[in-house]
Amino acid sequence: MARQVVVLGAGIVGVSAALELLDRGYDVTLMDRKFPGEETSYGNAGVWTRSSLVPINNPTLWKNLPKFVSNRTTALRYYLPFLMRNLNWTFRFLMNARQSKVLETAAALDQLISLSMQEHMRLLAASGEQQRLSEKGWMFLYRTQSGFEASQFARDIFDHFELDTEILNADQISDLEPSLNRIFTAATWIKDAKSIDNPGALVAGYGKLFLAKGGKFVQKTVQSLSDLSTTSGGWKVIADGGDSFVSDDLVVALGPWTPHILKSIGIDVPMGYERGYHMHFRSANGGHLQRPICDASGGYVLAPMEQGFRLTTGVELDACDAPGKLNQFEQAVSSAKEAFPLSGPVENSPWMGRRPTLPDSRPIIGAAPKRKGLWLAFGHQHIGFCTGPGTARVLADLMTGQSPPIDAKPFCAERYLR
Ligand SMILES: Cc1cc2nc3c(=O)[nH]c(=O)nc-3n(C[C@H](O)[C@H](O)[C@H](O)COP(=O)(O)OP(=O)(O)OC[C@H]3O[C@@H](n4cnc5c(N)ncnc54)[C@H](O)[C@@H]3O)c2cc1C
Repeated sequence: MARQVVVLGAGIVGVSAALELLDRGYDVTLMDRKFPGEETSYGNAGVWTRSSLVPINNPTLWKNLPKFVSNRTTALRYYLPFLMRNLNWTFRFLMNARQSKVLETAAALDQLISLSMQEHMRLLAASGEQQRLSEKGWMFLYRTQSGFEASQFARDIFDHFELDTEILNADQISDLEPSLNRIFTAATWIKDAKSIDNPGALVAGYGKLFLAKGGKFVQKTVQSLSDLSTTSGGWKVIADGGDSFVSDDLVVALGPWTPHILKSIGIDVPMGYERGYHMHFRSANGGHLQRPICDASGGYVLAPMEQGFRLTTGVELDACDAPGKLNQFEQAVSSAKEAFPLSGPVENSPWMGRRPTLPDSRPIIGAAPKRKGLWLAFGHQHIGFCTGPGTARVLADLMTGQSPPIDAKPFCAERYLR
């Protein structure tokens, strides 16, 4: 009989893990309160890029702290009571911004990103979703020379890891993106970055592939977990309505909500929530973008999507499910209007999501310490839409006793969990 596994969470991480485990011969049940790809994996900017190897807690964060203290920048906002309640996370997040730690994290993330890009290409072909892919790269744009110079740290890391980049001047930016207003003096073009025109639809497409291959999907809200190792063995998931599901192995891939559920078995996770907003806009005068752009000075990303131009904001540090606040989003919209001819919004209000971030900006992938049959895959911060499939490959190798194609140690749970 095939070994049974329940995968909790049908974001990009859970769906990819479910698919990979099905391919390895497991009897897989995927469970989520919503349909695949309707939460964080829906609302992101759709960018897959090796340039995401630089975590946001890097030495420039220390340099910019005086600027961020004002709590008015579009790039970073915080809710002080949340940071105070989570001093353990805040302190460790800042300490991990030192150069030596960042280089270690960048090396680990680069491996995971590169593996994930290969795995995504395989899944794109298998799910018939290739038409969603664009391979024109993406750009960091700077309005001033000093802004460009302030980003030298990231460019040094790009060079160290031999990313395919090109520095552009104002004319070259206009040649590549003629609809942008001429307010940018320099850009870093990440030439081999890829992007997707509807991240939620892509995850839904991977979900359909899972069902077509014989996977089972259950739409339920998980309430708690129970370790059956001292009785029958395996794990029990208790869901809404009192329903329960028992399996040999359990994978927890609940993204930002993972700590809520792990708490039910006494596991505390030091999680930060880098919340972000998005809304789609139309363009005036038929303006278009060839690729997603990050206006580093303006603190937002603008990505051409199926639904319109998706404007995503920078970081807002607050509790996972605290009500949304609009000032950072409104500031980002004004900034974006200086750069691109945006017209009327497509929706009435912005979407809000949470980037789930551990103090060292690396996800946890692998076995939970001292809990046989419990496997973890969460904490993918700004890069989970890209790194879900690589995570699945590493996790499935660890679950089946094989050597993963990349070093899994930087992602082990023992970093934070006992
Ligand atoms: C504004 C923004 C922009 C981003 N841009 C990018 C980008 O360009 N590129 C990139 O790679 N990444 C990007 N990200 C990050 C990326 O979206 C996330 O890292 C990734 O989606 C996390 O995937 P996940 O599967 O872990 O979580 P999710 O997609 O959130 O999946 C978790 C699932 O768990 C389910 N769930 C939660 N609790 C329960 C429960 N109790 N019972 C049942 N189900 C439950 C939820 O319904 C959800 O479907 C961005 C994020 C944001 C917010």
